[in-house]
Amino acid sequence: MGRNKKKCSAIILAAGVGRRMNSTIPKQFMKLGGKPVLYYALQTFQESFINELVLVTGAAEIDFCKREIVDKYGFDKVKAVVAGGKERYHSVYEGLKAVGDGDYVFIHDGARPFVELDMLERAYIEVEKSNACVIAVKAKDTVKIADKEGFVKTTPDRNLVWQVQTPQVFEFQAIKKAHEMIMDRDDIMITDDAMVYEAAFEKPVKLVEGSYENIKITTPEDMEIARIFLQKRINN
Ligand code: C5P
Repeated sequence: MGRNKKKCSAIILAAGVGRRMNSTIPKQFMKLGGKPVLYYALQTFQESFINELVLVTGAAEIDFCKREIVDKYGFDKVKAVVAGGKERYHSVYEGLKAVGDGDYVFIHDGARPFVELDMLERAYIEVEKSNACVIAVKAKDTVKIADKEGFVKTTPDRNLVWQVQTPQVFEFQAIKKAHEMIMDRDDIMITDDAMVYEAAFEKPVKLVEGSYENIKITTPEDMEIARIFLQKRINN
């Protein structure tokens, strides 16, 4: 793509066991429309302006991923398939090491099959301006912050509450350094990539409009919803 002058990589995360799915097969490999869930995100990134992909999976699944996903579907932008770590951010760090260099890195959950090309475009435009941005949607429900006993402490203004998705996109060297800075800290519970960046640099991360269909497959009912979204795409 002519407009895109900077080198972009993506890390697609497909490690972890996903206990909330109650399945022996990790959710990222379960079948959706006859193909593994992971296929769909890889397909979108393969079609996009992103230059190269690193796939992070369980050590035991590397061969399966290479043979049954990367080779089978011709995802030739995948330059490495590497083993992930205990927590999601450990897996991200393994991915960052395999990326090696570049200007921007898109970090995406392989369990989110409905990422779209225009989301990647919007994120690219924003990361050029802000150095760090995450795809997100405005919360539909009112959110309560509770204390440890389960009593409501505060109710944030719903107009300011967003639910964060992936891809999360960063200037490559900054997010790599941020991971190195926080890797040994046990005083913060890290649940997304933006938190790593925020904790390391105390710099703002911009929110970029995502989609309510960009769900993360986590529990069995998410698979049912995903089948509906997939059918809709096939019909369009
Ligand atoms: O478990 P959770 O739903 O938070 O996982 C989100 C994404 O992160 C999934 O695509 C999963 O494969 C990935 N992950 C990972 N390494 C881990 C845990 C999760 O790559 N240790």
